Amino acid sequence: MSATVSLHGIGASPGVAVGHAFLLDSRRVRTPKVKLTRDEVDAEVMRFKTAIDLSDRQLGDIKGKLTGLGTDGGEHGLILEAHRLMLHDPMFLVEVTRLIKEDGINAEWAVRRVGRRLRHQFDNLDDEYFRERRSDIEFVADRLVRNLMGELVDAELQVPPNSVIVAHDVSPADAAMLLKDGKVSAFVTDLGGHTSHTAIVARAREVPAVVGLTRASDSIRTGDVVAVDGRRGLVLVNPTDEQLALFRETMRRQLASEQLALKTAELPAVTQDGVRVRLNGNMEFPEEIPSLLAHGAEGIGLYRTEFLFLNRPTAPTEEEHFESYKQVLVAMGDRPVTIRTLDLGGDKVPGKKPEKENNPAMGLRAIRYCLQHRDLFRAQLRALLRASVYGNLRVMFPLVSSISELREARSELERCRSELSRQGVPMGKRFPLGIMVETPSAALIADRLAQEADFFSVGTNDLIQYTIAIDRQNRDVAYLYRPLHLAILRSLSYVVGAAKKANIPVAMCGEMAGDPGLTMVLLALGLEELSMTSGQIPLVKNVIRSVSRADAAALLEQAMQFSSAEEIERFIKTQMDQRFARLDGNAQ
Ligand code: PEP
Ligand code: MG
Repeated sequence: MSATVSLHGIGASPGVAVGHAFLLDSRRVRTPKVKLTRDEVDAEVMRFKTAIDLSDRQLGDIKGKLTGLGTDGGEHGLILEAHRLMLHDPMFLVEVTRLIKEDGINAEWAVRRVGRRLRHQFDNLDDEYFRERRSDIEFVADRLVRNLMGELVDAELQVPPNSVIVAHDVSPADAAMLLKDGKVSAFVTDLGGHTSHTAIVARAREVPAVVGLTRASDSIRTGDVVAVDGRRGLVLVNPTDEQLALFRETMRRQLASEQLALKTAELPAVTQDGVRVRLNGNMEFPEEIPSLLAHGAEGIGLYRTEFLFLNRPTAPTEEEHFESYKQVLVAMGDRPVTIRTLDLGGDKVPGKKPEKENNPAMGLRAIRYCLQHRDLFRAQLRALLRASVYGNLRVMFPLVSSISELREARSELERCRSELSRQGVPMGKRFPLGIMVETPSAALIADRLAQEADFFSVGTNDLIQYTIAIDRQNRDVAYLYRPLHLAILRSLSYVVGAAKKANIPVAMCGEMAGDPGLTMVLLALGLEELSMTSGQIPLVKNVIRSVSRADAAALLEQAMQFSSAEEIERFIKTQMDQRFARLDGNAQ
């Protein structure tokens, strides 16, 4: 029996799986380095161009196979398309050709050198999500080098059923092929973060994944028994019988709760005293919709459209925006779909690296960025107006901090509407226009904003960051991130009150909305619409259906007598534990 090893990484896609490791040999090919003679140069440039064509065809083929998966490839297809765009990027082509010609080096070497330079540019980005894109450059360069060397590329992998894929990194092309026949039970990779490609695809397909393990592919061998906990970021290699039993028990429980979830998907989220709560889904990619619906989402409460910028060097066109929104609206039928305009900024910006901001969280972000980049904003607004024909659309602006921003954004939308109308372009009827309440200033003037916004959606992730003055990305102050801080509770209470007084709907779409340990608090505050990821919906619904708002109100009143977040948390947790024997998630 081999020794048990436990590895800790980043839990990138929740779920528990036990299976046999299948090691994907994704190590880099060794790049041959050859100095060319002058008369070899032209032939080398030709060889490079042939490899580009071949790589392009291969990516096209894989994308074609994705269509056979019963989806149109969705986000996955877009990523492969982005790889094709990278192949044809003029800067890349010119630079590699220049190195072959001027430095007289072979194509493989030139591709690696340019690839490395591009990667370094990504390394310096502050934003994790964009930094992760550097692996895409590596995948493209790797494919080119392999093709130049005449190596076998995209060989069909014969993966046994119930395999845990272990790799240094998984390319989008490999992920597409691996997921097509449902034999993969989990992914385990050395590289990657929460927003790396494997993480995104795994979450969308509901396959557990732990990434960023550094040395997993060195310490695991094909055939090893591997237990993966994608929520905790834990991987056990050759676990003991007791550990395995525990894992299997967790798996059994999760499966049972999943089945229960699917059974309760159709049941309304209504409290014992008859308060009806609407449970919506948060989404980044259209691929998430089937899972959201299966878990009982009644609509989309937050579509983070900045994810349309994933894996691409340039901004999406109006047409691309339009196609994505239409796809989501059609898929959701007459259920409401809340699309948030771009929350870009800081380093999350297409094209050239912007000037570095000292304090990006407080910089040119979200609605501020859009109001200063009108072309980008207008492409999105026009697309939204056009897509409104296809379903039940609501639009909201992120990070509003003053009433002028709301007015300005609304005027821009109206200008786009008049323009489209003059051009005779079809549009749906007027849709509700709301704001995200996620800055303390917006919370404090919620009464005034409620006069002009059609609805509120509270973004607690940012509201907590800005209210308590803690950077969401900074691990050192993470301990201060407390949803049950009295300042947050007071702020929420004021915002909900202001919305009710003005008679506009108020929703919540930050992480707080999906924590079942906090559901009673939110009920007591008067929130009647909550938006979260698919897996959280049944858990929150379970709490709602088991309690009464009157009980919740009494609980919150008592909780707010305490002054410190720790006391409030302790009180709420004790109360929840008394009511529910086992809740998957706790008040933090
Ligand atoms: C929030 O801030 O709570 C929110 C939902 O927006 P994001 O997490 O995308 O900033
Ligand atoms: Mg936010």
